[in-house]
Amino acid sequence: MPDNCVFCRIVAGELPAKIIYQDDQVVAFRDTNPQAPVHILVIPREHIAGPLDFTDGLAGLAGQLIVAAGHVARQEGIAGDGYRLVLNQGRQGGQSVFHVHLHVLGGRRMTWPPG
Ligand code: AMP
Repeated sequence: MPDNCVFCRIVAGELPAKIIYQDDQVVAFRDTNPQAPVHILVIPREHIAGPLDFTDGLAGLAGQLIVAAGHVARQEGIAGDGYRLVLNQGRQGGQSVFHVHLHVLGGRRMTWPPG
């Protein structure tokens, strides 16, 4: 685990988080600064800095984030109405935590273009 990775520390149980789903590959927990009534982050247990670091060998794990987001959406009751998935890469993409995370946003109508 890289030093000071907040999300690695959540995976390790060293920092508190409202975990709502987990399996052997991913962990999903509530965002502490929610941008929608439902705002959950799905992360791999393995430290991967961002979407750009998903190499061919990690394609299955990348897909598992989306599969887990579906589990989360059904569990949270937003699957029927719909939801938005967001992956931010790098500073210009709006990434602030450098352990890849898939945002699951729902419970309100999303607008386009994104800010
Ligand atoms: P991003 O800007 O795409 O890197 O998103 C990082 C997200 O992580 C933001 O929405 C933050 O509110 C959220 N966040 C940061 N630290 C924590 C934490 N300890 N627990 C839950 N969410 C966090």
